[in-house]
Amino acid sequence: MYDLVIRNGKLVTEKGIVEADLAVLDGCIANIMPRGDDVTAGIGEAKETIDAAGQYVLPGGVDVHTHLDMPLRDNIKSADDFATGTIAAAVGGTTTIVDYACQEPEGSLADALKVWKEKAKGANVDYGMHMSLVRADDATLNEMADMVSQGVTSFKVYLVYGMRLSDEELCRVLDRSAHLGTLVTAHCENYGVISYRTKKLLAAGKTDPKYHPVSRPDRCEGEAVNRVLQLAAMTDMAPVYIVHNTCRESIKCIEEARSMGHPVFAETCPQYLFLDDSLYELPDFEGAKYVMSPPLRSIADQEYLWEALKNGTIKVVATDHCPFPMEQKKIGLHNFSQIPNGGTGIEERIPLMYSEGRKRGLSMTAVSKLVSTNPAKLFGMYPRKGTIRIGSDADLVLYDPDKQVTIRHDILHENVDYTCYEGFVVDGYPTMTILRGQVLAKDGDFTGRSGLGQYIRRDLP
Ligand SMILES: [Zn+2]
Repeated sequence: MYDLVIRNGKLVTEKGIVEADLAVLDGCIANIMPRGDDVTAGIGEAKETIDAAGQYVLPGGVDVHTHLDMPLRDNIKSADDFATGTIAAAVGGTTTIVDYACQEPEGSLADALKVWKEKAKGANVDYGMHMSLVRADDATLNEMADMVSQGVTSFKVYLVYGMRLSDEELCRVLDRSAHLGTLVTAHCENYGVISYRTKKLLAAGKTDPKYHPVSRPDRCEGEAVNRVLQLAAMTDMAPVYIVHNTCRESIKCIEEARSMGHPVFAETCPQYLFLDDSLYELPDFEGAKYVMSPPLRSIADQEYLWEALKNGTIKVVATDHCPFPMEQKKIGLHNFSQIPNGGTGIEERIPLMYSEGRKRGLSMTAVSKLVSTNPAKLFGMYPRKGTIRIGSDADLVLYDPDKQVTIRHDILHENVDYTCYEGFVVDGYPTMTILRGQVLAKDGDFTGRSGLGQYIRRDLP
């Protein structure tokens, strides 16, 4: 007997929309049957049946860029921890996240993984870990192999902030990663440029949030993307994944590298597709909500990113979910460079992307590849995650294409006092989220048993 059968839905598979019923056994997709067949014939009944008439059945969302329970500086952590952040994820149609564990300045990678696995206990969706490197000494490079055996197959490097690596260190990590077959994910902005411009702005009394984007312009991102890609090409063609691309300046470097056959992959995030830099001009410190790095860009950059999603240059839309409450953002009331960086998205991503994607001519399948299939593939979780096929985990989202919702802070579950998408109207919304065959969320509420999330040992990509 099946555990669950979903009848009458339109399955969004990699090959297109399939009108079929779907059966779940032991947490996996056990059968996919053309509409009308008697699923109980010869197999027995299902314990539970869900009628998905009029709805799409999507593969669960895979968000490969989150910062839950992330310490920023003394007494400041990102607002969502693994408990609250994964409730928001589940209600918004995301069933798998990959969070960024972070090495301590003097610590080992093993220590960091232990700390992050401890934080993640009680998560409500499945989770993997990337590892952010703050050093590239021999001990760290040696440990990268141990990480792979523990299911951590991607390593992040920063070109900015206190944890930035020098070019020499970047070369060491890229070389090692190419050798191991792992993926390096890179936060690309030019540290020296930002430092210089910030000092100059502050000295001139330009301290408001609106100067945040002035301090780190698009070329500052493009320069760093170009540098990482050039360094990677000078190693043994280490595969590189550029996180949160915001602008033409970075995408054109990626296009060029890809045209030469380099294994380079690009991510963007909803904030760069839906929001623009005019928001920094809002009065009463409202612009601080949108202080994140890289910053929001122009409408022209947005359009460029949408084109890059359509033509396949950008493979993944993840969130960089890392909100801080307004009270903490106020630390930078008189100095934009002190505003904790980050915004919301873990719950809004799936509804925003399917709604706007369809309006812009992307098929349901094309959107599902950006938010589920491609990230699962690139980060070693496919075909267990990111697809609807027999044998895959039964991570499924029922999506009502006719349900119009106005996104408001008070309908969301993120543990912060705003959403970056207040007032956005989306056409279509998740009505049910299922993790390995268990219903987690229904009609905008978390209804599941807590703590069902499991750690995912990721394969090499
Ligand atoms: Zn990030």
